[in-house]
Amino acid sequence: MSFDVNAIREQFPILSRQIDGQPLVYLDNAATTQKPQCVIDAIVNYYSTCNSNVHRGAHRLADEATRLYEGARDTVAEFLQANAREEVIWTGGTTEAINIVANGLGQMLKPGDEVLVTEMEHHANLITWQQACKRAGASLKIAPINDAGELMLDAYEQLLNSNTKFVAFPQVSNALGTLNPIKSLIAKAKAVNALVLVDGAQGIAHGPVNVQELGCDFYAFSAHKLFGPTGVGVLWGRQELLASWPVWQVGGEMISSVSYQDAQWNVLPYRLEAGTPHIAGVIATGEAIRWFMALDMAALAAHEAALLASATEQAEAFEGLRIVGSAQQKMGVLSFVMDAGHPADIGFLLDRQGIAIRTGHHCAEPLMGRLGVPGTARASFSIYNTLAEVDALFAGLSKVKMMLA
Ligand SMILES: *Cc1c(COP(=O)(O)O)cnc(C)c1O
Repeated sequence: MSFDVNAIREQFPILSRQIDGQPLVYLDNAATTQKPQCVIDAIVNYYSTCNSNVHRGAHRLADEATRLYEGARDTVAEFLQANAREEVIWTGGTTEAINIVANGLGQMLKPGDEVLVTEMEHHANLITWQQACKRAGASLKIAPINDAGELMLDAYEQLLNSNTKFVAFPQVSNALGTLNPIKSLIAKAKAVNALVLVDGAQGIAHGPVNVQELGCDFYAFSAHKLFGPTGVGVLWGRQELLASWPVWQVGGEMISSVSYQDAQWNVLPYRLEAGTPHIAGVIATGEAIRWFMALDMAALAAHEAALLASATEQAEAFEGLRIVGSAQQKMGVLSFVMDAGHPADIGFLLDRQGIAIRTGHHCAEPLMGRLGVPGTARASFSIYNTLAEVDALFAGLSKVKMMLA
């Protein structure tokens, strides 16, 4: 199987859109990816053939919907190489998944305990822990990065000690593209018996993940960054941990029995899934993952590496442009600033040429402060982007530079 980018592009209806008569060049994949037709069809099919609530119905539609819904959970369990389907909890996204863990485990933190995160966190993996520490009187430690945007491994290791109860870091930085050596970060945290959460929101779309082999305790990702719908995410966690802490939300579905004065909780995974879920979204997430798993992963990785290499080479040769984040190991993201103007102006003038990027702090405001920039312009690549689109970005930036001169 080889990688035919045009055959992939044809499956994404939005990619043939025009913006003011120009072809759309979509380079904002770190914010969200586009959806292939099969994912769009999965949503439409659910609503047009078996819309009903899951788990509780005594009729055909409910049976069919439940089978599709729980089938998607099996798909995720297989995708992550989980031990059991009970370890896969549906959430509203990465943000909610991390909140569930920080709220659940956060209740077990005590004064004197430490939580360790990194300088490159997305707000979702920073504020959650920051607030959990404040509530518990625990302290939040921040592992530093170097100017290239790489985690400083010695400093990380020195911050780990017997008080470290929890460690959390991103697989890939959404703002810089840094790929962290997560397997060794996990092993070092495990050596002091800390629990480890990997924020996989930005890593998941770049290749397969094996949570058993990684050795982490929790892994979180959002469907919408993996060719699936918004409003759905996954929290994978070790069963004994997910079953151990006080429940997060209470209500329907998550109970085994209820009286006016008391309630007993359901088993995993339902224990952590209160209320009617995003059924269509979950079913479409299963479809997105099956679609993704069928791709040739080695060819996909080579294609993505070629896109980033071309973008980096052109950026380095571009006068008046500075790359922000030049880690040795990087994926999918080119963040930069330009002498010619503010990132917001760059984004606006690229948009006028049909080129979609993102500008600002990328939900990593402290990281921008650490790197001494107010924000960056960020082009982020996915499997359906082409080398011609990378060229279009730099042709667009040349025009931007002239317009701002
Ligand atoms: C997008 C992202 C998040 C948050 O994901 P949501 O889908 O907004 O909940 C967290 N961490 C990283 C690294 C991200 O890229």
